[in-house]
Amino acid sequence: MSVKTVINEMSKEQQKEKESLNLYYSTQTVIQEALNKLGYNNEMYELLKEPIRLLTVRIPVRMDDGTVKVFTGYRSQHNDAVGPTKGGVRFHPDVDEAEVKALSIWMSLKCGITNLPYGGGKGGIICDPRNMSFRELERLSRGYVRAISQIVGPTKDIPAPDVYTNSQIMAWMMDEYSRLREFDSPGFITGKPLVLGGSHGRETATARGVTICINEAVKKIGKELHGARVVIQGFGNAGSYLAKFMHDAGAKVVAVSDVYGGIYDPNGLDINYLLDRRDSFGTFSKLFNNTISNKELLELDCDILVPAAISNQITEENAANIKASIVVEAANGPTTLEATKILTERGILLVPDILASAGGVTVSYFEWVQNNQGYYWTEEEVMEKLEKVMVSSFDNIYQLAETHQVDMRLAAYMVGIKKVAEASRFRGWV
Ligand code: NAD
Repeated sequence: MSVKTVINEMSKEQQKEKESLNLYYSTQTVIQEALNKLGYNNEMYELLKEPIRLLTVRIPVRMDDGTVKVFTGYRSQHNDAVGPTKGGVRFHPDVDEAEVKALSIWMSLKCGITNLPYGGGKGGIICDPRNMSFRELERLSRGYVRAISQIVGPTKDIPAPDVYTNSQIMAWMMDEYSRLREFDSPGFITGKPLVLGGSHGRETATARGVTICINEAVKKIGKELHGARVVIQGFGNAGSYLAKFMHDAGAKVVAVSDVYGGIYDPNGLDINYLLDRRDSFGTFSKLFNNTISNKELLELDCDILVPAAISNQITEENAANIKASIVVEAANGPTTLEATKILTERGILLVPDILASAGGVTVSYFEWVQNNQGYYWTEEEVMEKLEKVMVSSFDNIYQLAETHQVDMRLAAYMVGIKKVAEASRFRGWV
């Protein structure tokens, strides 16, 4: 590797680290603002601004060529006053400590908003599963569980899928945990395959939750979903199912993208064709010659924009160019605080991530309940319960935002943090 390449690589890593830290500090800023509005003192902020526990692990994995590679992983637990912590595990080259910590705080907020009996947790491993074999991924997944086993469990901290992890990975992790404990432990992890105690509707839950939020948002601004032009960034678990639900509801999905770029057709895309052709990492754009960049996609003329990929996508630089009248954050942290301010000033309704993407953790909770009781619900039952949770959470936050004349992000933080703060207060921690 040339010196120039090393410098470029370093600056890319440093850039990512800076972005994660910004995300983390922005989260702390909004938490402080929310606690101030709710009348809590600074001691409560001191408790809630950081996770109570962060474990960093090094995981040796025997690769297929016989060499051993050591991966770095994390598990962050924000606060367990409400109950066991809960949150996904991300496999991605850009995972870092600040990002995992911020994501665990957001999980506390999501569980508070949806009134689930959990605190927030999150995990991640710095790796690129796209360049690993099936068996290498299995060894990495099992190694991670062995490394974090002391601080996780069905009544301690319950993992789930996130970016580049799926039901197969959850199955390996559940099997490893059950072997360690020497009893079957389906309640250790959610997002499992149906035959291993997964829940009906978990696979599509995040997208369902986003769809419900879009429906509610459209009603609030007096528009209709039928015929609305929708742009979605990301075509993985969240983005692809969302595209399908939007298409089925009669909306016109005019653009979608993956990590390499996007495709755009003002007359609407053939979503079923794209669903058939995308790979298991949510990529499809290499099949097309005429692609647009992710940057161009965000600024397209449309009614509803859904960032459903990664963080820091709508920033101070492009917020003024967003044409949508509704932005619904399916991804975690896609809009910076500065951009939130710009969008709000421009009269754009922004439905924040901790509300919009809470469908995933809600159905994960349903999965855990079913595992614990050993009795399983139909897809209709799950969907009915999800709809109730999402609609009431949306209404609650929308009304609070109106009452306090604040944006929906701050209102969502107020609802989410209040439950954690109250549980901490009753336990006598503060
Ligand atoms: P996924 O791994 O299934 O798909 C990610 C998609 O984003 C893929 O299409 C990928 O190509 C694309 N992508 C990756 N890097 C990109 C980049 N730099 N620019 C543009 N696109 C890029 O992930 P997912 O589970 O769909 O999660 C997507 C987002 O939704 C994440 O922010 C995740 O934290 C959030 N989320 C997911 C769930 C869930 O249940 N899956 C729940 C809550 C929140």
